[in-house]
Amino acid sequence: MQPDKKPRLDARASSADLGADGTLDPADWSVLRAQGHRMLDDMFDHLASLRAQPTWQPPPSDVRARFHAPLPLAPQSLDQVHDEFRRFILPYGSGNLHPGFMGWVQGGGTPVGMLADMLAAGLNANLGGRDHMPLVVEQQIGEWVRQIFDFPEDASGLFVTGTSMANLIAVLVARTAILGAGVRASGIGARGAGLRAYSSSAVHGCVAQAMDLAGFGSSSLRRIATDRSQRIDVEALRAAIAADRREGLEPFLVVGSAGTVDVGAIDDLQALAAMCREQGLWFHVDGAYGALAMLSSELAPRLAGLSEADSIGFDFHKWAQVPYDAGYILVRDGDRHRAAFAAPAAYLRRETRGLAGGSFWPCDYGPDLSRGFRALKTWFTLKAYGTEQLGAVMARNCALARYLEARINALPELELLAPAQLNIVCFRYRAESADEVNAEIVADLQESGIAAPSSTMIDGRFAIRAALFNHRTQQSDVDNMIDAVLRFGAERVGKHRLLAG
Ligand SMILES: *Cc1c(COP(=O)(O)O)cnc(C)c1O
Repeated sequence: MQPDKKPRLDARASSADLGADGTLDPADWSVLRAQGHRMLDDMFDHLASLRAQPTWQPPPSDVRARFHAPLPLAPQSLDQVHDEFRRFILPYGSGNLHPGFMGWVQGGGTPVGMLADMLAAGLNANLGGRDHMPLVVEQQIGEWVRQIFDFPEDASGLFVTGTSMANLIAVLVARTAILGAGVRASGIGARGAGLRAYSSSAVHGCVAQAMDLAGFGSSSLRRIATDRSQRIDVEALRAAIAADRREGLEPFLVVGSAGTVDVGAIDDLQALAAMCREQGLWFHVDGAYGALAMLSSELAPRLAGLSEADSIGFDFHKWAQVPYDAGYILVRDGDRHRAAFAAPAAYLRRETRGLAGGSFWPCDYGPDLSRGFRALKTWFTLKAYGTEQLGAVMARNCALARYLEARINALPELELLAPAQLNIVCFRYRAESADEVNAEIVADLQESGIAAPSSTMIDGRFAIRAALFNHRTQQSDVDNMIDAVLRFGAERVGKHRLLAG
């Protein structure tokens, strides 16, 4: 055949050394292999030199502008595409890898997790169901999770995107448990409209959203007052439940927090578990980041009562440092979990033998059918680091938070707004117009690249929030952050005085 008579598709694809014989594989694997090694080395270099880089830098407008490119009809060389990645994407992440990152509740990732995720992508496994080893790995994680939380053999577990999804699944399982499987066909109906759920006012916003998505409406979540440390006031909760019952409403669910997002408060889970048992309520715990503190012998006692929950939502991608995303929902009664999601479909027919066999079909336990192999990066992380070391990282973050708290207390310029209950400290620079000044300090810090704390409101006052989740963060990073707060604070106060004068 003449070269010019080749189909057009082949001619286009071959120009990028990828797409041999009409496939998407390379004609010459050795070229791709060398390129792949460069990409891997490049990423190792990035991780090894994090501290020399800014925590965060805003993507410049010319870099952003590049990402309005036309649809790439023709292939480009992989080398070129990777070069664009290196120049325009890699330097402008959100900073959560960096030891100076103290904003929000985010994990730092690990090189082991990165490598495992590459292997998972190579396998391209679909964990919706059927009979293959990746599903056995997800079940292995399920066994470990049951062991960590001391849950029974027949408890069920499922990887999900994150705790937002885990909390939604918990609400749906609790809904089906109280209203029966018929709710799935008929909706929540008149009885469902009278159901009420309870949490502290410090609970994460995704719990109200879960109530909304489950058809109850977000106002069906009663937000109960907290004590001074932002733990739910159990007596106020008891009173709210009694008041709702008197009104003819039907309490069905209590959501406890194991580590609130603002200050890291842990509700009295033992008291909540006892009350839910006594009142016949579903007890779910949002343990997004705090639940896995069970891995630390120092922190686990703080979570007493967690093992009595009916369900727990948590993230491997936060404090356990597994790369995004790796959320998890654990349900004590696996049958009830399944009853909320399993549905017959001819194309998902289960067989007793062959590839369509296998007893664990994750699509029976959540809304997703196609699912990636989140279990693999988690399996690698737990094995390669060991759970004791992962727990020790959490305890070290807490020790750093106590160190930060001590430094704040020792500096007359600074005021502690929320003490370190776990690994989050809220404070501010003392000043007139302190809300405005501290908002500017937070932005100054982030834009300086020195550190990236976030902010929140504590009792109506603007707070600088340092959330210590990164396993790379050292005492010197905390010191650098404090030094920068003092410097920017003095500058900002000077400017405000000038403006006022
Ligand atoms: C992060 C977080 C969530 C939400 O989890 P995602 O994994 O982001 O969906 C819920 N609750 C708490 C306490 C959190 O910290």
